[in-house]
Amino acid sequence: MANLGYDDTPVIPGSKYKVHDGTRPQPRIVTPAAACCGAPSDAIVLFDGRSLAGWVSAKDATPARWKVENGYMEVVPTTGDIQTTEKFGNCQLHLEMAAPTVIKGESQGRGNSGVFLMGRYEIQVLDCYNNPTYPDGTTCAIYGQYPPLVNACRKPGEWQTYDIIWEGPVFKGDKLAKPARVTVLFNGIVVHHAQELQGPTEHRRLATYVPHPDKLPLKLQDHGDLVRFRNIWYRPLKDYDAG
Ligand code: MG
Repeated sequence: MANLGYDDTPVIPGSKYKVHDGTRPQPRIVTPAAACCGAPSDAIVLFDGRSLAGWVSAKDATPARWKVENGYMEVVPTTGDIQTTEKFGNCQLHLEMAAPTVIKGESQGRGNSGVFLMGRYEIQVLDCYNNPTYPDGTTCAIYGQYPPLVNACRKPGEWQTYDIIWEGPVFKGDKLAKPARVTVLFNGIVVHHAQELQGPTEHRRLATYVPHPDKLPLKLQDHGDLVRFRNIWYRPLKDYDAG
């Protein structure tokens, strides 16, 4: 193959490749998902709309008891939070959710659920369409820490997308070496950009990091509302040139 680049250029700091180096690994080709309900070709599918295989009760690891129908899962109140058997760390996570069409409750009581990265760090799921609540508990809030940059909620019953780029915290022994960081797009709109977290999610308390493994399950919350989820997948985040 013809030389695609240059070999008489300086080496890029932090890299073993030169500026415009034609021998640098080509980015892998990934086929994007169709507009709805697909996943990119290299994604790990966590929920394909057909079964809760791969999901268990977060409390006791028994099979998840949420409802599956018409390509989505729906919270069955009182059955509890569910989590993946898959454990993962830094990632791009995609999921879609719909708030209940029958509007009931207000503030935190309307369409509440949650996406808990590593089972600990909640990106809020809530119906905040014409439903104000405390800002750090709004839809897509890093719960108890940061409100979303904007409220981009669609109407109850309409499908909405979460695209989350997650970097877990790094611990050295029992000390925090690097806090977790997250970027979130909700319905395609940036609501957090490389925001550092103060620690795992707490209610009415300040967050404090506690060391944990670098790969953990993803948890979804049963907050008693009939929230639906579909099309859940992730891609591990890798370094440049990792192939
Ligand atoms: Mg919640």
